[in-house]
Amino acid sequence: MILDLFRLDHKVAVVTGANTGLGQGFCVAFAQAGATVIGVARRSMQETREKIESTGGTFHEILVDLSAPDAIDVILDNCEKLCGRVDILVNNAGIILREDAKDVSVENWDKVIQLNQKLVFFLSQAMANRYFLPNQSGKIINIASMLSFQGGIRVPAYAASKSAVMAITKALANEWAAFGVNVNAIAPGYMATNNTTNLRSDAQRSEAILERIPAGRWGTPEDIMGAGVYLASAASDYVNGFTLAVDGGWLAR
Ligand code: NAD
Repeated sequence: MILDLFRLDHKVAVVTGANTGLGQGFCVAFAQAGATVIGVARRSMQETREKIESTGGTFHEILVDLSAPDAIDVILDNCEKLCGRVDILVNNAGIILREDAKDVSVENWDKVIQLNQKLVFFLSQAMANRYFLPNQSGKIINIASMLSFQGGIRVPAYAASKSAVMAITKALANEWAAFGVNVNAIAPGYMATNNTTNLRSDAQRSEAILERIPAGRWGTPEDIMGAGVYLASAASDYVNGFTLAVDGGWLAR
């Protein structure tokens, strides 16, 4: 039956940046759909754990700084020890640094590109080589942005990294679709999370953003849960290389 295609029973999902915001939303959604969830973050994921365990789900955590050179090895080793398999990867962790283009330092540029772009590619590569390609199945969901489509204001490194996320999504899909691996992205609109705290506290920018969103409100982690389960499940088996906007209509303007 059609709704069965959306179930994630017996699947193992890895979500980076799982302690808060959208990452926490993906974890909760996957657990509710039946998956075992492995969260990856620098900080305690207690809140995510409580949300999942309170409804009978299973949650494991890997504490690691994704900027560390051995982060990918740490994730793979722990996934193997915890579950012995991975079926779904969500490259969600990301940072945004707001500064005028004229002031951006090489150090800040590299920080953003390393996490938002380089890690997305190399963690996907590592998971594909270890699990998805040998198993001829797997789901990768990259978290893009409205700034995969637009240039943004005072966030040039972020815009560059998120445009790259959309390109990486298509490039990997072109190579791996034939091996049963779906690579897609979700481009959230303006969501009320830590990522947008500064933006939302700037009265002028906040009003200008809200005025442009046809849905008339900021998004929430709950808003991306359905798209996450869809792209993680068999319901999207013939969807490859696509970036799905969940944006309250922002891109339609
Ligand atoms: P957030 O700041 O709450 O989440 C970012 C996550 O990344 C956190 O869990 C944080 O701990 C993790 N992280 C950052 N640096 C890390 C590191 N070095 N090691 C390990 N974890 C690290 O914001 P969010 O909105 O939930 O962001 C999630 C994703 O969604 C990001 O990729 C962000 O760019 C993207 N996004 C957010 C919005 C929005 O409006 N909130 C819009 C478009 C895209």
